[in-house]
Amino acid sequence: MELFLILGPMKSGKSFELINYFLPLNYTNIKFGLYQPVKNKRNENVWSRNGISIKAKKIKSLKEILNKKEKIIGIDEIHMFSERDVETINVLLKQNRKIIVSGLDLDYRGKMFPIIKRLFEMGPKKVKYKKAVCELCKKPEAVYTQILKNNKPILSGLSSIIPDDGKYVYMPVCRKCFINK
Ligand SMILES: [Zn+2]
Repeated sequence: MELFLILGPMKSGKSFELINYFLPLNYTNIKFGLYQPVKNKRNENVWSRNGISIKAKKIKSLKEILNKKEKIIGIDEIHMFSERDVETINVLLKQNRKIIVSGLDLDYRGKMFPIIKRLFEMGPKKVKYKKAVCELCKKPEAVYTQILKNNKPILSGLSSIIPDDGKYVYMPVCRKCFINK
C-alpha cells in the first residue's frame, strides 16, 4: 500500500523517528511488527539514543515477514538487508500493507546503497531525511557517515555493509568535513 522511508547518517535520530511512529500503535488493535537484521549486533530492541526503545524481531531475510498477518511493518537498518529483499517489499505492498523503513542512505564513500536506490524506484509516498550534528565542525548539517580506523578515514576496500562491532568508529559529518578521496 504505502512505503515510507526514514533516511540519514549515523546519529540522526532515525530510530527515534521509527519508534515514535510505532509506540502509539501499542494502544490500538492494529496488528504491527517491527524488524531488524540479524547483522545488527548491538541489541534486541530498536533503541534511540535518548533511551527509549521498542521490541523488534531479528530476521535474516525480509521473506520471513511474508506469512505474518501484520498490517503495518517497520524495518530498521534496511541498508543491512540484501538488495534482493526489495522484491519482498514489493510483495508486501501488493498485499496492502504499510511499510516504514529506516536506515543509512549513503555508505562510507558517500555512495547510495543499492537497496535504497531500489526503494526510491518503487515510488515511496513519503521520504524523511534526517540530519545529524557534524562531529568535526559541530554544525547540524551532517549527511554523511565517515568510518574511521585508528583515527583515519577509510576510503576504500570495505564492503558497504559494515557491522557496528566496535572495530571501527562511525562519525556523522557534513559536506565540508567529509573525506572521500
Ligand atoms: Zn562539518
